[in-house]
This record gives sequence, C-alpha cells and structure tokens, in this order.
Amino acid sequence: MTTQTLQKKVYFFGNKETEGNRDQRNLLGGKGANLAEMTNLNIPVPPGFTITTNECLSYYKNNQQLSKELLEEIVANIKKIEKSSNKIFGDSENPLLFSVRSGARISMPGMMDTILNLGLNDEAVEGLSKQSQSEQFAWDSYRRFIQMFSSVVLEIEHHLFEEELTKLKQEINVELDMDLSAEHFKKLVQSYKKIIASNGKTFPQDPVEQLTLAISAVFNSWESERAYKYRKINKIPDHWGTAVNVQSMVFGNLGDDSGTGVCFTRNPSTGENKFYGEYLVNAQGEDVVAGIRTPEEIEKLNKIMPTIYKELVDIYKRLEQHFKEMQDMEFTIEKGKLYILQTRTGKRTAAAAIKIAVDMEKEKLIDKETALLRVTGDQLDQLLHPTIDPNAKVSVLAKGLPASPGAAVGQLVFNADDAEKWTGEGKQVLLIREETSPEDIGGMHAACGILTARGGMTSHAAVVARGMGKCCVAGCQTLQISAKAKTLKINDKTFKEGDYLSLNGTSGEVIEGKAPLQEVKTTEEFTKLLGWANDIRRLKVRTNAETEEDVKTAVKFGAEGIGLCRTEHMFFEAERIDFFREMILADTQEKRKEALNKLFLYQKEDFLKIFKLMPGLPITIRLLDPPLHEFLPHEESQIEELAKKIKTTKDSIKKKINSLHEQNPMLGHRGCRLAITYPEIYEMQTKAIIQAAIEAQQANTIVNPEIMIPLIGDVNELKTLRELVENTVKEILNKNNIHLNYQIGTMIEVPRAALMADKVASAADFFSFGTNDLTQMTYGLSRDDSSSFIPEYLNKKVWKEDPFQVLDQEGIGELIKIAIKKGRTQKSNLKIGICGEHGGEPRSVGFCHREKFDYVSCSPYRIPIAILSAAQEKIRHPE
Ligand code: PEP
Ligand code: MG
Repeated sequence: MTTQTLQKKVYFFGNKETEGNRDQRNLLGGKGANLAEMTNLNIPVPPGFTITTNECLSYYKNNQQLSKELLEEIVANIKKIEKSSNKIFGDSENPLLFSVRSGARISMPGMMDTILNLGLNDEAVEGLSKQSQSEQFAWDSYRRFIQMFSSVVLEIEHHLFEEELTKLKQEINVELDMDLSAEHFKKLVQSYKKIIASNGKTFPQDPVEQLTLAISAVFNSWESERAYKYRKINKIPDHWGTAVNVQSMVFGNLGDDSGTGVCFTRNPSTGENKFYGEYLVNAQGEDVVAGIRTPEEIEKLNKIMPTIYKELVDIYKRLEQHFKEMQDMEFTIEKGKLYILQTRTGKRTAAAAIKIAVDMEKEKLIDKETALLRVTGDQLDQLLHPTIDPNAKVSVLAKGLPASPGAAVGQLVFNADDAEKWTGEGKQVLLIREETSPEDIGGMHAACGILTARGGMTSHAAVVARGMGKCCVAGCQTLQISAKAKTLKINDKTFKEGDYLSLNGTSGEVIEGKAPLQEVKTTEEFTKLLGWANDIRRLKVRTNAETEEDVKTAVKFGAEGIGLCRTEHMFFEAERIDFFREMILADTQEKRKEALNKLFLYQKEDFLKIFKLMPGLPITIRLLDPPLHEFLPHEESQIEELAKKIKTTKDSIKKKINSLHEQNPMLGHRGCRLAITYPEIYEMQTKAIIQAAIEAQQANTIVNPEIMIPLIGDVNELKTLRELVENTVKEILNKNNIHLNYQIGTMIEVPRAALMADKVASAADFFSFGTNDLTQMTYGLSRDDSSSFIPEYLNKKVWKEDPFQVLDQEGIGELIKIAIKKGRTQKSNLKIGICGEHGGEPRSVGFCHREKFDYVSCSPYRIPIAILSAAQEKIRHPE
C-alpha cells in the first residue's frame, strides 16, 4: 500500500470527536482548520467534515476522479454526523442536509464554488417540510439547491433560472422571493427541471451522487479562471489545492426568530476596535453578501435578539483573544439558536492593518515583531496612495457607501474585460457595475476604482476592493447603469464609456470629471510601526532621487542617503537642455567644453542643494548614463527652433542625429562608454560634485559623496575612468588646499562585470547592483519593449512574475551572489547596494538582507515598504 492511500483523507468536526485543529491549515485549509478549532473551544458549530487539500491534488493526479478510499471515508463521516444530529442524509422524514464549500490555506472569498441545501430531492423535500413545519420554506430550499447545483455542477447558465424566477414574480406581482408561496416554488422546481432537461443534463435524485458531484465541482473550481486570476494577484501558489468542507445545514430563513450575518471583531476599514457587521432576519447564507436585500447594522441585533447578541459578543471576544487576530465570522440563527459557520482572519484595508497591529501590541495581545509581520509591503504601498484634496471644489453627483478608502480618477468602463483591456493600453479606468461578482476579479484588479449601484459594506465589491486596497464606492442607488449601452445615468446627466469621473472611497462620493488629488498623510500608528521596523532592521534604506522635492519626501520617510542620483535627469529641464544639445552638437573639443562649462554651474547648484538636504549621509551620484541621441529633438519644428537658438543649420543637426542613430541603443554608446569617448563630460560632472561638496563643507555641512560609474563590463573601463575622476578631484582639492572624503564605485549591471567582480572590485570602493539593466542583459530582454509580451508569459505560466518587477532570485540572484562573493574576497569591506527598481520590492529586499547587502535604494514613496520589508526579513531570518 502506498503512503498516499494510508493517509487520512477526511477529518470530522462537531463534537468531542473532532479530529483537526488550527495548526492544520495546510492540510484542512483555513476554513476547515478553524471549524475544528472552534469545536475544540466549545463554540456552537454545526457538525461536518473536511476533505484534505492532499485529496484535491490526488484528484487532479487521478484524472479528476475521487478515489474509492476517499468515498469510503466520506460515507463513514456522514454516518457520524447522522448520529450526532439525529438526522438522516436523504431521508423522507427527517433529512440531513449539507453545505459544501471550498477552503484553501488562505481564504479566497467568493473565488470557488459553494453549494447549499445538498441532499434535497423529491422525497427529502417532503421530509424537510414536515421537520420545519413550513412547506414554503422546504420548497424554496429545494429550488435554491437545484439552481445552485445546476450552475455549479451541471454548468448550466445561472441567468436561465433567475429569469424564470423573475418571470414568476412579475406574473403574480411580488417583489421578494419570500413573498412566493409553496405552490409557486413547486412550480418553479418543475420549470427548473425543464431547463435542466433542455440543456441535456439530469438532476441526480441520489443524495450521495449529489455529494460526490458537488465535491468534484469544488475541486474543479480550484482551476477555474477566476480562482487562477485571484491566486496570481495574491501570489498564492497553484500547487496548494483546496480542501472541501461538508457541513450540516442550519437555516436562517425559518422565520423572524432566524437570521444570518457577517461580522468582524474590529472595523475592517479603519481598524477601530469596535464590533462591526451586518445581518438579515429570515435570510439564508449568501443573501447578506449578495447585496439584494440591504442588511442591518450588527448593533441592532441587540434590540431584537438581546440574548443572541450577548452570546455573539462573547464568542467574538473569545475568538479574537484565542487567534490573537482580527476575525471575520459568519453566523446563522436558527429558530433562536446561534451557530458560527466560519471564522477566519479578516481582510482589512492598509490603514486598518496598521492600526490593528499597533493597537494589539498596545493591548499586549501580540509583540512588536508579530505586529510588524501583520502588515505587508503592498498594504503600505496602498496607504501611500493619494486622496482627493479636501479643499478642492468638486461637483458631487451621487453618494454611495464608502466601501474602500482612497481616491480614483479614471475613464468609465462597463465590464471587467474592458477594464483589463483599457488598463493594458495604459489608461486609468473606473469599473462601473450594477454589482460585482467573482468573474469580475481580473477587471477589478486592473481598474483604479470600482463603483457599484447595489450591495452593502460586505458586498462582493466592497470586500474584494478592500482586500486589494482599491478605492470603491458601493451601493450607490441613484446610478442607472446600462452595461449593454455602456452608459451611466446619474439624475439627469448621462456618461458614456471613456468619460472621466472621480471616486472618493473614504466618503462614498461620486464626483464629476477629474478631481484634484492630494499627497498622502501618514498616521501616528504608521509612524510608530515604521519606528519599530527601524529599530529592528539591519539593512540601510536609501533613495533614488535627484529633484529637491523627491529628496525632501525621502527625508520625511527616513531615507539614509541617496543610492542613485541619475544626473541625466538634471539636464532635461528646459533651460539646460539647450546647453546640453550644444555640447552634443559641438564639432570641436573646445566648443564642447564651452557648453559643458555652462552646464557645470547648474549641476553644482543641484548637488549643493542635495548635500544640504541630507547632511552627513552618503550621496551616490551616477555620472551620465543614457546615449546622447536621447537628448536631441526629432520633430522638424523643434529641430528648426534649436538651429536658431544655437546658431547652426537644420541640416547640421539632422546630420548629427543620423550619425548618433543606433540599432540597439541600450547596448550602444551609453554609460561609461560615452566617457571613454568624451572624457570631458565626466570631468565636468566630477568638478561639479567636488566643488559643491567643498562649498557645503565650508558651510559646515558634512558631506559624503560617492561617485558612481555606470555600465562597466571590464575593469579597464573602470580603471581608466577612476583615474580621470581621481585626477580631476585631486586638482580641485590641491587648488583649494582642502581635504574631502569621497568614494568612487561602480554599478554592476552588465553580466560580465558580475562575473569579473573580483577584478572590478580592485578599482571600486562600492558596488551598486543596477538590476534593471542586469535583468535586461542577463535575460537578453529589452526593458523598453518586453511589456508587450511579458503578460502572455505570465498568463501561460511560463514565468511566475515579471522579472523587471520582482527580482529573479534564481537566475539574476545567482549572478549577484557570484559578484558579491568575488567582490568581497578581493575587498572585504566592499560596500554593496542595489539601485534597480527591485530595491523597493518586498521579496527582493528580503533577498538583499539575506545576501548581506549594506543598503537598498528605491524611489521615495517605496521607502516605508523597504524599511518594513528589511525588518520583516530580519525577524524571519535573525543573523
Ligand atoms: C539599473 O539599470 O538598474 C539602474 C538603476 O540604472 P537605470 O535604470 O538608470 O539604467
Ligand atoms: Mg542601468
């Protein structure tokens, strides 16, 4: 017998015989492990069993078949439930009914399939009718089951059933499902059966067959398009699989002493430590989140069912204390008895995540390290997104629920596919939907904001948007949306696809046109959390910046210096670019030097400002990198204008442009190669750096300039340019009779430099990994052109991530490791940093910590993310 067949496949929960616990989430999924844990805590949970995630994997290995051994364990567990509930599966007197739900290791709300009321058939419906003493309820349950089963298992389109239901309601002129009588539901069951038959399918009457088909359907839904997309967005591995939870049904729709609800132990939007949630009286499971009836706030339950409310409060407090985490719970009240159907770690906004983590530390529920691990880099990123300027005059068209905070300005699209398509074309879009469903997940992720006409604070749109940190206004009832005509009518105004609107997810306002956005404001909790991260991390965090504004922002977020000042960005301003162009177009060295002299003053002033904004901190200034043709105009009118300005002819400019043209500019005359040809460029830049440093020093500012040479592939390039820089520095220092600390280092961005790092290190005081170019050149993948096909690589799972966004630790990482080892063998105190875009990406920062980098450098708004990620990695991998 193989170990696979020996492994236990099904775990029971529900009484003293409960077999699992919270530590088994990998095996039982989050939902299954927590159901078991709750029964261990004596919290009222309807009994059931969990089929393990291993079985999902076996199912796929076994050509999507459930094994014989699994079926035997399922049957044995049904017997156990029958015994503890005194009901019998499929019985015509006292039937036991099940819900069948998915449950992965990490919850994926709404992504996989759920079936309720399973076990009903033409006979059991009579039993349910007797047992509940309500024929109407029994037949409503039956038709709901057929509907769900048909769409999930038999894959018949859901709307066919909905249309039948709507038709019937119109015929007898009622609005709500609960206004239909038993006879109406019986009629509906007949028409549903006809729909099934006309689709060439059969509805199984045998409850065991229903169950096995439903279990297979849940396993199948792990591979559905929407679940796949969700995993991709949330970086959940495909090989985890899902568990299946089969649980005895309890009913919230048995009258006014029944109900159902969803609640959070703290506010998931703001993090406030206050019980939060919604419920509906006389309703079944999905009614609360479906957004069809508007639910009541949880406090109101205290008025109508005070004992239940007290019990619920007691349970939520116990669960939060036990899990030491904010919980999201689902409950049902069946004829005055409370049941908890699920508890899980609650999804929350970034702001709430920070507040809850900091508050829980204050309440001594968790320590600082745990608090730091509770917030993700992506959440910090969301928090650093803009909001609508409160002082701006805006025209508010409508108001919905403030479902997920932040602000979004974008063009209207009316379906998820368009949202993905338009975003792919570089547009910012708002996804407008009557209400969202799990199929919309890709479009919701692509859009910058979501607006719905229906649904509450726990509707699909609200929950998903909060988890994504995406601005969302939900349940805005004044909207009249036509998805078909792609129009949105608000009062007397009609907006078409492509028109601009703005959303304020914090107030729920829908605003006409493009509202002005304002800078992010950080909270006290945010500062506190970053303070803890600063105390813990080893890795230093610098910034990539060259403008005064960016440097100030970086200082505010706690940057410990500049890791990359791209000097070419300083030439792009209107006044300077002409001098730069003059320099390029000069036909003699003399003329070139003349133009460079003019640029010198600008550069020196810029560097001086930076030195003063970051006194005492290391400032890495990279000498000119891009090819010269990038600075020349290409349009006829601009060429003409330039010719006039610098007193030359259009033809001579065109000739120069032609002579500079390259087939492969990224592999052409750029970086240090420019300075080998035109040393006077680096000479001028060095002079500007050193002169600025001297002036700063004379004004009592401590300076630490680090001069960085880009695109080295061979140590001789570095040696040649190092000599040039050193000679230039010496000349100025000697002339001024002054001493200055400075360093000369290089970027490691050409694979050859990484492989020859011992030699390169002999001429370098520091290495800074330029992982943008290093990725480009190692993969042979153009930074500028590959975005057109990388999405296809990701869709087809050829790659897990875009290597320009997340460092390829396996390949590029290997090259980096070689370079560090060789570099530090040559020079043990070689300083090592990273300044490619990866320097602000959480997992890449983790890699840098483990590989003993001295610092990472990233754009100003990513500094908090880098700080947090560096601390988290230190907690996970203490040295
Ligand atoms: C790099 O290549 O990683 C880098 C930081 O330089 P740039 O992006 O300016 O080429
Ligand atoms: Mg580069």
